[in-house]
Amino acid sequence: MENRAGKGTALRWAALGAALLCLVISACAPKEAAQSETEPQPVSVSAPAAEEEAAPPTLGQRREETAAAAEAGRENAEETEAAAPPAAEEPPEETDPPAESGETPAGTEAEAEAEAQAPAGPEPEEPEPEDESWKLILVNAEHPIPEGYEFTLMELRNGQHVDERIYPELQRMFDDARAEGIYPFVNESYRTAEEQQAIMDEYIARYEAAGSEHEEAVRQAREIVALPGTSEHQLGLALDIIAEFSEDSWPTWQWLKDNCARYGFILRYPADKTEITGIAYEPWHFRYVGAEAAAEIMERGLALEEYAAEKSAAEN
Ligand SMILES: [Zn+2]
Repeated sequence: MENRAGKGTALRWAALGAALLCLVISACAPKEAAQSETEPQPVSVSAPAAEEEAAPPTLGQRREETAAAAEAGRENAEETEAAAPPAAEEPPEETDPPAESGETPAGTEAEAEAEAQAPAGPEPEEPEPEDESWKLILVNAEHPIPEGYEFTLMELRNGQHVDERIYPELQRMFDDARAEGIYPFVNESYRTAEEQQAIMDEYIARYEAAGSEHEEAVRQAREIVALPGTSEHQLGLALDIIAEFSEDSWPTWQWLKDNCARYGFILRYPADKTEITGIAYEPWHFRYVGAEAAAEIMERGLALEEYAAEKSAAEN
């Protein structure tokens, strides 16, 4: 992960740690995944002393990130407000070549193309075209991002990117949270295949440094880092959110869990669905699915995998 802003080594490590948090896509038991997550941390992790059972062991790490993010947040106090105009610095997608098969072109270069191919909607200017299947796209270890999946990115003020179609609801959610004294911060959202690979490489290097032979290091890294093409973050629909000005993100996560559905977001990796999602509990990871699906998913406490399966069964 290159940090173009160059905010210093410590922050870069913290950012890398944050990036790693939601990479955990493994078929192994969540407990196992959660355990291995804590091993190769580059930052000094304060022990999550006597956390509740439900709290992931990454919480200590999470707090480290929170501090870093809060620091960054002071510079970007209203990070989701209005997309930053094209800044002097290059958007990352220009420096990142498209994924192997030319999938997921993003950003301004792809904008015209993406709009030209906007599915079904007779009026491409409409924010919500008739075909809304993108909202429910399922990406996990068994379901890689479909070839040719296209979307347009929008840059947030802190340099993170999201699918432009979720931006209005994201902004509304943050505005409403702030009105209630909750200050969410988008710590990590869109990630390119190249960034995903860089994180994988970083893990491999760390395992090698710890003494593993290369092949073993690769195997270990793949246990906890999603292969490029299987991370939901590559969709631009997933967000890792923390508290902006506090080291304790739990109130923020609780507010989001209680309210996210109103804006079309879901808690993607709930504590009681780890065997279905294959991912450890991630109280910070929210995914846009649209208001209708979000309402049902959050009300019934479903995993997106379950909801998608029900939908699919109902259609057949
Ligand atoms: Zn995530």
